[in-house]
Order: sequence, then structure tokens, then C-alpha cells
Amino acid sequence: MEENLEKRLTYKKVNGWETTDTRQKETIFNFSKDYMNFLNKAKTEREFVVEAVKMARENGYKDISEFEHLEPGDKVYFVNREKSMYLSIIGTEDIENGLHIIGSHVDSPRLDLKPNPLYEDTDMAYFKTHYYGGIKKYQWTTIPLSIHGVMVKPNGEKITVNIGEDENDPIFTITDLLPHLAQEQMEKKLKNGIDGENLNILIGGMPYSDENAKEKVKLNILNILNQKYGIVEADLQSSELEVIPAFKARSLGFDSSMVAAYGQDDKVCAYTSLVAMMTLENIKNTAVCILSDKEEIGSMGNTGMESHMFDFFISEILNKLNKNKPNLLDKVFCFSKMLSADVDAGFDPIYSQVSDKLNAGFLGKGISLNKYTGARGKSGASDANAEYVAWIRNILEKNDIKYQIAELGKVDIGGGGTIAYILANKGADVIDCGVPVLSMHAPYEVTSKFDIYSAYETYRAFWRE
Ligand code: MN
Ligand code: MN
Repeated sequence: MEENLEKRLTYKKVNGWETTDTRQKETIFNFSKDYMNFLNKAKTEREFVVEAVKMARENGYKDISEFEHLEPGDKVYFVNREKSMYLSIIGTEDIENGLHIIGSHVDSPRLDLKPNPLYEDTDMAYFKTHYYGGIKKYQWTTIPLSIHGVMVKPNGEKITVNIGEDENDPIFTITDLLPHLAQEQMEKKLKNGIDGENLNILIGGMPYSDENAKEKVKLNILNILNQKYGIVEADLQSSELEVIPAFKARSLGFDSSMVAAYGQDDKVCAYTSLVAMMTLENIKNTAVCILSDKEEIGSMGNTGMESHMFDFFISEILNKLNKNKPNLLDKVFCFSKMLSADVDAGFDPIYSQVSDKLNAGFLGKGISLNKYTGARGKSGASDANAEYVAWIRNILEKNDIKYQIAELGKVDIGGGGTIAYILANKGADVIDCGVPVLSMHAPYEVTSKFDIYSAYETYRAFWRE
């Protein structure tokens, strides 16, 4: 009989906190503090890109247009229409041997204002919204909401809006029925409890004092908007205004071991990969960090990952490295390795019935790798090759990083997707790799500080490989 045979042969997920000493705990908590401060400034894709550009420039990155030629060690970025961004640091290895890419997304589920949002009813003024991404509509009522985005006038003047975050700002909300009169509503299925068409935010209740005006409350709102932003009602048609929870990111639990915040899907992976990229010097393989947009609605459009803007960025790098030959871009992608950095569904003991405990990502047990996503019979999945999973495991193990390999819920229950398939279709080796989240897509999402730090360590180790 061999002693410790079980220990030698059996795989066991361990809670990362158990092997974290006081000094490491302090590092992890400090990292999360910076993360929460960043989140409070970067709640939308546009705000994230603004903050990311600041961070990149402070760390020696320059817009790719500022370079005539590139060489190893150069740090470049490209901002796509203020909503997505790519960064790269040129490695010493020939770029023909592929890139090391980490791709996340900086958009999150929310309520967008409709193009003609403003109306008045019984002396109350409202903005109509159109939800963006997969939400449980009832979660978005009766919480404080803020409005972020831009309004662009026909002459090109752009006005940035951020209202509801400052302590002195007013907030907005979507009202719901009182239980006393909700008998009918309560009989409905949860998914039909709140109509999409009723997700209207309450924005005012005071009339403008003009006896001849038809809609005095609406007029009063327009007057305020005109004084504050210089716009008229029609300018709302060329705006992108996002209604999001006005909550601040906070530490969660008596032990403060978790983070509660809006938009952690996928800003937790975007932030950790961005910060990891800032630590890179003298790397072998050219590193690329993608902060994409529109993932929550299928990655379409010119700021989504499906767009050729990314190919353009990599082509520009090749041009500026003076590397040009037919099909080189295809070759570069085919030899690339990628981590699709997106959050995983964390195992929730209250709703354990939707997960397979053997194959779930648990909070506090480190970064979660999904070999594949998809739904039911792996429909729509990008399934990472065993060889590539082994290559990643090797990096994680030699760097002593806690990780878990998981699936997104039980086989027949549902599923999900990320940007993984897009780069995999171009020929790269890709695996999904992110932080487990509770209450994903809710106004307030929960992550573990241990896993956040473990994501940062994973991304850094991948690029340094
Ligand atoms: Mn995501
Ligand atoms: Mn999502």
C-alpha cells in the first residue's frame, strides 16, 4: 500500500484563501481596491476606454499613428470609435510565429435610451429605454440609476453626459407596482412580470410656468437639458445614453473577501488584463490586449469583435514592422494563442440545481477556464484543443496559480458564448478564461477578490511565457 496515494492521484479544487498568508492577502486586497476605484470611473465602454488610454499613456504606450516604424519593445494602442481599444507590445520573436492575445469586452448589460425617449404623462416626465444585452427586467426597477454617454449635435459638437454618480447629483429610477395592487402582476411568470416597454425611467415632475405650453413637465425637462447641455429634443436622436445602476463598487461580506459592483462582466477581466499588460517589458511573443465592445449583443458592428477593425490594427503593426507578404495576416492569426478573458458563471449554492458541481467554477478557487462554452450539444462552441489546454495548464502550474476548469451550468439547462469563437475561426488557439461571477448580468454582480487577483496573475504569466 502506498501512503498518500489519494493525494498523488486525485484532483481536488482548493479554496485559494486557505493558502494565502497575511502579506499575500494584503496584496490581493490592495489590488481589488484599485480595481473598485477604476470601476467607479469606468462604468461604460466609453468611460473604460478613456481610463484605459490614460493608463496606457502613463505607462509609455502611444497611439499607433504616432509611430512610423515599430520595433521590439514598442508599446502601441488603437482606439476604435471611443468604444473599443487594442493595445500591443512588440516582442523580440518574429511576429510570423503568432501573437499572444488576451481579449475581453468592456460593454455590459444596461438600458439604452430610445432615439425618441422623452414623454410626459399625467404631469410626470419619463425617458423610454430599450434594454441592451440579456437582463432580468424586474431587477432593473426600484434601484437608483444614472445616465452616461454622449449626445452629438449635427454640427459635430459632442457633449459627454454623466449624471447620477456624484453625491450631489439627482438619480433616476423605474417605478414598480405596490404589492397591495400587484395581484395580477404577481400571477405572471417572472420573465413577463415587467414589460420591456415599461422600463421607463422617471426623470421629472415639475411643470414649466407657461400657461400656453401643452406639456409643461416635458418642457421643463427640455429647458433644464438645454441650459445644462445646450441641446434640443431632436439632439437626443443622435445620442448614445446608457442608463445604468448608480451603485458604487463595494467590498462585500464581513470578511470583505468579495466585490459587489455593476458591470463586472466583463470589466473584471478587462481591468485585470489591462493592468497585467502594463507590467510587461522585454517580452518574447508580441502581446495584444483587446478591449472589445458589443459582446453582450453578439459582437456585431464596427466596434464589436467581428469587425475588421482588429485585422486593420494587426495589419498596421505588420506594415510598421516592414513585414509585408501575401497572406501574412492569416498566418499570424493561425499561429496565435489567445485567452478569451470573460467571466464564468460562479457556482451559487442557493441555485445549485443549475450547475454540475464537478464542473462548475467556484468563487475563491481561482481563475476559471472553460474549455468550451455553447449550449446543449456544445452548439456554437469554440472547443479548445486538448494540446492547448495542456499548454495553458503548464503555465498556470509552473507559476503556482490557482485555477479551475469548468462549464457554464448543466448540459441541458442553457449556455452562453464569448468572443472566443471569433479568433478561433481566424485560426488561433483559444480558451475561455475568466473570473467566476454570481448574479451575472444583474445590476450588482459579485466576484471574489482572490479570483480577481488570480486572473491578473494568469494574464501576466500568459504574456510573459
Ligand atoms: Mn461577458
Ligand atoms: Mn455577459
